[in-house]
Amino acid sequence: MSVIKPRFFPYGTKIHGTKLTQDCPTETMPEPSKVYISVSQHIGAPAIPVVNIGDKVKKGTLIAEASGAISANVYSSVSGTVSDICDIVNGLNQKQKHIVIENDFSGEQEFLPPLSDFEPQTLVDRIRLAGIVGLGGAGFPTAAKLTPKTQLDTLIINGAECEPYLTCDYRLMMERTQEIYKGIKYVARALKVSRIIIGIELNKPLAIKAFSEFSDLSVVALKKQYPMGSEKHLIYVCTGRKVPTGKMPFDVGCCVQNIKTVLAAFNAIENNAPLTEAYITVSGHGVKNPKNLKVALGTPFSELIEFCGGRTENANKIVAGGPMMGKALVNLNQYVRKTDSGLLCLNKTETSLDAPSNCINCGLCARKCPMRLMPMYIESFALAGNFKEAERYGAMNCVECGLCAYNCPARRALVQSISMAKAKIKEMKNGK
Ligand code: SF4
Ligand code: SF4
Repeated sequence: MSVIKPRFFPYGTKIHGTKLTQDCPTETMPEPSKVYISVSQHIGAPAIPVVNIGDKVKKGTLIAEASGAISANVYSSVSGTVSDICDIVNGLNQKQKHIVIENDFSGEQEFLPPLSDFEPQTLVDRIRLAGIVGLGGAGFPTAAKLTPKTQLDTLIINGAECEPYLTCDYRLMMERTQEIYKGIKYVARALKVSRIIIGIELNKPLAIKAFSEFSDLSVVALKKQYPMGSEKHLIYVCTGRKVPTGKMPFDVGCCVQNIKTVLAAFNAIENNAPLTEAYITVSGHGVKNPKNLKVALGTPFSELIEFCGGRTENANKIVAGGPMMGKALVNLNQYVRKTDSGLLCLNKTETSLDAPSNCINCGLCARKCPMRLMPMYIESFALAGNFKEAERYGAMNCVECGLCAYNCPARRALVQSISMAKAKIKEMKNGK
């Protein structure tokens, strides 16, 4: 047993948020009659459909193939018939190609071929084949993260789940401890590292206890600070290493993986199962019976809400993700993706629909920013289309934690503007 005493990073914030579902065991939601599976559930190039309308598929049939190193395979989450392949403007206002499958409820399933060995490269190839991406929300293809150019020395497992409301990682850490542990060991083997640290927030004592049983893992009990789950902050807190501006975790010898990602790796390696399901917390006071759910990829959000008893009368906002980093939906054409962790129905007391007003230069956003940025300036450069200046002010260092917007008395959509600036800066660098 190895528990390292609590650490903290400067400038973090204690967010007072409810974890309504922390005592709700994970329930498996029955499969829907139709799934809508996006081919863009990851960072990188969309996967290319390899099925046609009318094709019969099983749960676990490859339906869209990765189109490069930074892309990911997509598998059917039900057995049935492909009824459409079409563009849908989803609730996040993104136009994406979806493969629609009518469920025949036969339960037929297809598996990946069994592995002949457990060598590091075999494990990386299996994780790539299974379509696994960073399930903490980033969606970066995991196999690419497991093949750094230089040898790393530390694997860090992110068990922080620092966003209010979200509890599915916490439940999995207690309900699937052994499988997660084995998944961690496989990922460490793939990376050829022996130093493994799991960071778990102090407000999850049962999860800390569960993982303290393994002598080859070090558990870091994390102070309850937001955004503790951000990779750069977690690396600092777990190892004391600082990831410099413009650099990545592998530049300081670390790889960070999420709880659900290592569980998916376990399933792919030991059960030969590609990624076809997501674990998601449906919560907020705007839904009648909040739950932690295991659901088929492509399940409509509307059916998740119905399964949780429907919306309350005063529900007024639906968010994909947590309240800090999640995005408000503009419509309900939203279907469960690999990276989804939360679906929040918030009522009037939990959210504000006030329109943004002019910045009053109070400086609160800068004082609260854990990356020591000046969000008000970056926002105004972004809105003026001056992306060079936004970059000079550190836009690319923004971890999109949402603390600036959360604290802004003028309700400025700071993160949206900074995120847009980051995308434009990337385009400029790629010569677009
Ligand atoms: S500027 Fe970025 S890193 Fe700083 S508080 Fe806002 S979202 Fe978080
Ligand atoms: S917190 Fe809001 S109002 Fe205050 S300086 Fe930042 S953007 Fe302006």
